[in-house]
Amino acid sequence: MHELSIVRTLLREVELIAAAELGDVVEIHLGCGELSGYEPECLRTAFAQLQGPGRLEYARLVIHPIPLAAVCEQCSGEFEPADFRRACPQCGSPHTHFARGTELWLESIVLDETRKATVP
Ligand SMILES: [Zn+2]
Repeated sequence: MHELSIVRTLLREVELIAAAELGDVVEIHLGCGELSGYEPECLRTAFAQLQGPGRLEYARLVIHPIPLAAVCEQCSGEFEPADFRRACPQCGSPHTHFARGTELWLESIVLDETRKATVP
């Protein structure tokens, strides 16, 4: 499960932010792309395994799925890729790239119920 190592790195990062803000973490919000290579269920399992005493002890992990989206370089149209095809469904151009859905983001952290830390 390669989620363990990414979650370990993530928790270290969140600890640093919480320590700088002098707060305890209540929620950690992650954006998880459909094609990020990380499974939300495995991220949750890894989180449960690694969550120890300290500022993150009672933190809840909230995962927001990010659906896959591609954009066409020809007509600028955005579409949801299907069946592993890269051609634009509007104009047929093969010159397209992923716009969203391949990323794993730390979206925000909620500290002490009320304070929302900005992720630097
Ligand atoms: Zn197009």
